[in-house]
Amino acid sequence: MIEDMLRTPAAVQDAERHTAHNYHPLPVVISSAEGAWVTDVDGKRYLDCLAGYSALNFGHRHPTLIAAAHAQLDKLTLTSRAFIHDQFADFCRELAALCGKDLVLPMNTGAEAVETGIKVARKWGYQVKGVPDGQANIVVAEGNFHGRTTTIVSFSTDSDARADFGPYTPGFRIVPYGDLAALTEAIDEHTVAVLLEPIQGEQGVVVPPEGYLRGVRLLCTERNVLFIADEIQSGLGRTGTTFACEQEGVVPDMYLLGKALGGGIVPVSAVAADTDVLGVLQPGQHGSTFGGNPLACAVATEVVRLLATGEFQRRSAALGERLQAGLRGLIGKGLVAVRGRGLWAGLDIDPALMSGRKACERLMERGVLAKDTHGSTIRLAPPLVITEEEIDHAVAQVAAVLAG
Ligand SMILES: *Cc1c(COP(=O)(O)O)cnc(C)c1O
Repeated sequence: MIEDMLRTPAAVQDAERHTAHNYHPLPVVISSAEGAWVTDVDGKRYLDCLAGYSALNFGHRHPTLIAAAHAQLDKLTLTSRAFIHDQFADFCRELAALCGKDLVLPMNTGAEAVETGIKVARKWGYQVKGVPDGQANIVVAEGNFHGRTTTIVSFSTDSDARADFGPYTPGFRIVPYGDLAALTEAIDEHTVAVLLEPIQGEQGVVVPPEGYLRGVRLLCTERNVLFIADEIQSGLGRTGTTFACEQEGVVPDMYLLGKALGGGIVPVSAVAADTDVLGVLQPGQHGSTFGGNPLACAVATEVVRLLATGEFQRRSAALGERLQAGLRGLIGKGLVAVRGRGLWAGLDIDPALMSGRKACERLMERGVLAKDTHGSTIRLAPPLVITEEEIDHAVAQVAAVLAG
């Protein structure tokens, strides 16, 4: 049998043998990639419609980003923040400009950006707002995903993410997502921040009702509360604009960025805010050995430059309409709902038909990689370099899977 000669089954077993089982990967072992395509150890090609959960917005091995990484590897890779390196100033200035903020604070992973945002908001609350020591609270939304640290899972409403990891960090209030009245109720004089995803990615690309983000902005301003937008997955071109908040004309007090900021090459995250907020931090109060390292800055500066032209945002908006329209055409043909903005879609499969996992396995067999979430939902987030033909191909494969 030809299958006996394939390396995949053995390679899958090999990969699972000595790892903790905190993931349930699709049985594909990837060995190379370019643009929107990856190739497995048997030479089979797949269209990557997950794009590293949006860490690969510019596709695999974007030539500009790879060149920046190569050049930097030959010069300087790490100094720590104990010293200043020559890649730091450009990165901070250009990212701050992209965000329209005074300052940035570089970290590595998304969870660290969220933790940074929480720490800054609390300190701002005590030092600027005048909240009594130890009394600060932050309001978050049901169905949120902000990362995996003990503090962050403390305010998760997903039992897989949270159960058996207590004791939990106090100081968080959870309200239904998209419900302004509930948010208004939850805010009190000790509230320092509202922390939200402008679109909830892990929850299944859930877009809040029109006007919600504007309402959150008004409420936060009125009550002297920081609006922290977790744009780690929604930001940097994914939704057809630089930030998802822009689609309601809203500017948060703090952006949390990650994923695509590292160009799919190195982990880079950041918090961006004005001086009255980020300025509360003094030397020694926060940091990271690798945060803002030369390699990270060299790559991320090029990411910011790619975004500064607006080309990727326009692509995402235009191609996104094609993707969303194609998928909406499958409602009633195996899909019960399609949500999304730009090149980001959450599809609810008729649960009577198959699970999200099953659909992803079948898509994989047809050469398309995607990821399920929450039972019967799958998420499509192809790299922004995808072409019209490739989008049509992906939609056709979804249709074929649903048709059984
Ligand atoms: C992925 C993600 C995070 C966490 O990022 P990591 O780099 O995995 O720590 C936080 N918030 C959102 C919205 C995310 O999508």
